[in-house]
Amino acid sequence: MAAPYPHLLSPLDLGPFTLKNRVLMGSMHTGLEDRFFHYGKLAAYFAERARGGVALIVTGGISPNRQGWLLPAGGTLNTRLDVQNHAKVTTAVHAEGGRIAMQILHAGRYGYHPFQVSASRVKSPINPFTPRAMSERQIHATIADYARCASLARDAGYDGVEIMGSEGYLLSQFLCPRVNRRKDAWGGAIEHRMRFPVEVVKAVRKAAGGDFAIVFRHSLLDLVEGGNTWPEIVTAAKALEAAGVNLLNTGIGWHEARVPTIVTSVPRAAFREVTARMRKELKIPICASNRINTPEVAEEILASGDADMVSMARPLLADPEFVNKAAAGRGDEINTCIACNQACLDHTFSMQRASCLVNPRACHETELVLIAAKHKKRVAVVGGGVAGLAAATTAAERGHAVTLFEAAGALGGQFRMAAAIPGKEEFRETIRYYEKRLARTGVEVKLGTRVDRRDLEAGFDAIVVATGVVPRKPRIEGLDHPKVLSYVDVLRDKKPVGQKVALIGAGGIGVDVAEFLLHDTDPTTAEFQQAWGIDPKVEKPGGLVDPVRKAPRREIWLLQRKPATKRMGAGPGRTTGWVHRIVLEREGVHLLGGVEYLKVDDQGLHIRQDGDVKVLPVDHVVVCAGQESVRDLVPEREDARYHVIGGADVAAELDAKRAIKQGTEVAARL
Ligand code: NAP
Ligand code: SF4
Repeated sequence: MAAPYPHLLSPLDLGPFTLKNRVLMGSMHTGLEDRFFHYGKLAAYFAERARGGVALIVTGGISPNRQGWLLPAGGTLNTRLDVQNHAKVTTAVHAEGGRIAMQILHAGRYGYHPFQVSASRVKSPINPFTPRAMSERQIHATIADYARCASLARDAGYDGVEIMGSEGYLLSQFLCPRVNRRKDAWGGAIEHRMRFPVEVVKAVRKAAGGDFAIVFRHSLLDLVEGGNTWPEIVTAAKALEAAGVNLLNTGIGWHEARVPTIVTSVPRAAFREVTARMRKELKIPICASNRINTPEVAEEILASGDADMVSMARPLLADPEFVNKAAAGRGDEINTCIACNQACLDHTFSMQRASCLVNPRACHETELVLIAAKHKKRVAVVGGGVAGLAAATTAAERGHAVTLFEAAGALGGQFRMAAAIPGKEEFRETIRYYEKRLARTGVEVKLGTRVDRRDLEAGFDAIVVATGVVPRKPRIEGLDHPKVLSYVDVLRDKKPVGQKVALIGAGGIGVDVAEFLLHDTDPTTAEFQQAWGIDPKVEKPGGLVDPVRKAPRREIWLLQRKPATKRMGAGPGRTTGWVHRIVLEREGVHLLGGVEYLKVDDQGLHIRQDGDVKVLPVDHVVVCAGQESVRDLVPEREDARYHVIGGADVAAELDAKRAIKQGTEVAARL
C-alpha cells in the first residue's frame, strides 16, 4: 500500500538540522506562557503535541523586553532567571522526540499597555494606547534585546526561534508605510523600512550561532491600507534570507484588517497562492499557513509545489495526534479544527486561558486527565448531540460499557443543523469524527430510539441525560399563521422560504439563519477573494481592491426586543462577530432593536418600534427566539445515577463549547 501523505511526511533539511516531516505547529498564544507558574502546564501541552508527531513546534509569542509586551507582564525572556522555566518546556518536548522554536514577538503598537512603542507615533484602530516613536538609540537597544532573547532561548534548549514579522506587530509596523512615517535611515523606501527586521535577523544569527534555526514570519499579504506591494514584500524576503533566515513562514493580514483570514467562512487554504509565488523567489524553504486543517489539504499544497512546509496552529490544539493519525492511515480519526475561534482566540482576546471547543483538554492536559475506570459501569447516554457524543465516547474510552440513545435518525443534534449554514461546513467534520470515535470505542448506538426512566434505571448504573433543547415558542398573536416557521423548519427540514423574511431573535441562530438565507453555497476561493476585495497578486498596497458587490438574494429583517447596539448581528464570537456584522450590512439586512412583536397575519409581521406601529411586508417569519431545555428524563428528586449535561442542563447561552466540555468532564468522573 502506498504511504499516506508522502509529501507531508517526508523530512525537510532546514540547514541547522533536519525535520522529520513537514508539519509546523504554528504559534498560538495560550495565556500559559505569561506566568512562570504555568510552565509545567505549558510543557505538558507541548509534550503531548510532540508525542503526536509534529516536526517543529513554535511557542506563543515571548517578548524580548518590557516595551514589547502584548499585555502587562506578558511572557518575556530577557534575564537568566527566565531560562529555567523555558527549559521545562524544551526538556519535555525533546523527551518526546520533538523540536521546538520560541517565537520572539514584540507587539509594538499592539501592546495593551502604556509603555508601547512603534516606528512612528501612529495609533492602531484596535488599541486605545498611542505608541511613542522609537528613537535611533531605542532601535539599537531593541535589536540587542532580540539578540539576547535568542541567545537565552538557545540556553533554555530551544532548537530555534521564530521572529514574528507579520500580523501588524512591531516589525510589520516598520516594514509598512501605514505606520512607518520616519524620515531617517529606518523609514522611507522599502530598503530603509526593512532595515530594522533585517538587522534583527543578523543580530539573532550572530548571537545564537549557525546551528540554531531562525524562522521568520513574513507578511505576504497585509490586507490593510498602507500595506506593502508585492515587489516590496519580495525585496524584504530576499534581504531576510540573505541575513540568515532558515525558513520563511507566511503571515496573512494584520490584526486590524477588516478582511477575514482564519474564520470558518474562509475557504480552506485560501491564501496558498501568495506562498506559492514567494517560493519561486527564494532558495530557503517556505511554509504555508491559514485554514489548512486536514492532511489532505496539507498534502495537496506540498505535492503541487506551493510550499515546503505547512503551518497548523489551531488544528493541533484540536488534535495533538494529528500527524501520527495521518501517518498511520487513520486520517479519518482526526478531530478537525472547525475554525470557530470560540475557545482559542476568543479566550485569548478576553484574557482567559486558551483551549479548544472540540478538545477541552487543550491547555488543560494536567487538569482534565482521562484514566481507565476502576469499576466498569453500564452507562446510558441519552441524546446524540455533541454533549452526548463527548460523554459517550469519553466514558467508553475509560472502559465503561456505553449505550447511546438518540431519538432522531442521525447524530449531531444542533451541530448537524449548524453544518447546513454556508461557511460552517467544517461542522460536519466534528460529526464525522464522533461517528468514527463511537465505532472505535465500541459504543452501542441506538438511533431512532426513545427511552423512558424505567428502561434506563433497570439496565444501567449511570445515566447521562443529554436530551438537548427545543426551540422556544414566544407568545405572539398569529404564530400559527402558515408564514411562520421555526429555525428548525428552515435549517433542518429545508422548508421553502420567500424573498422577504423577518427573523424574530438576533442571537447566534438568528445570525446563522440570516447567513443561510443570503448564501446558498459555500464560496469558492475566487468568490471569497472578490467578495472581500483581496488581490492575491498584491499589485496595490496591502493587496486590497474594491470588493465585487452582488444583489442580495433576499430582503431580511433581523429583530430583537433589546435596543440595538454596535454588536447587534455579530453573534456570540468575540473574534468572529465583526465578520458576520460586515456581511449582514453588506447584504442590506435591516437590523432592528427595541422591537415589540404585535401579530403575524397575511400582511406580514406587525411590530411597534419607538412608539410607531409598522408592518413588515414579509413572506415568512422565522422564529429564532432561543431554546428551552428538554428535561423529561430528569428525576424530580436528587438521584446520584443521573448526570444532566448540555442544553438539557441549562438552555441559556448554550454553545457547543460548554456542551463538549461538560460531556467530557462528566465522563471523566464516572
Ligand atoms: P440566543 O443567543 O439566546 O438568542 C435568542 C434571541 O431570541 C435573542 O435575540 C433574544 O433577543 C430573542 N428572544 C428571547 N426570548 C424571546 C421571546 N420570548 N420572544 C421573542 N424573542 C425572544 O439563542 P440562539 O440564537 O437560539 O442561540 C442558542 C445558543 O447557541 C446561544 O448560546 C448561542 O451563543 C449559540 N450559538 C452559537 C453560534 C456560534 O457561531 N458560536 C451560532 C449559533 C448559536 P430579545 O430578548 O432581545 O428579543
Ligand atoms: Fe479550532 Fe475552534 Fe478549537 Fe480554536 S476552538 S482550535 S478554532 S476548533
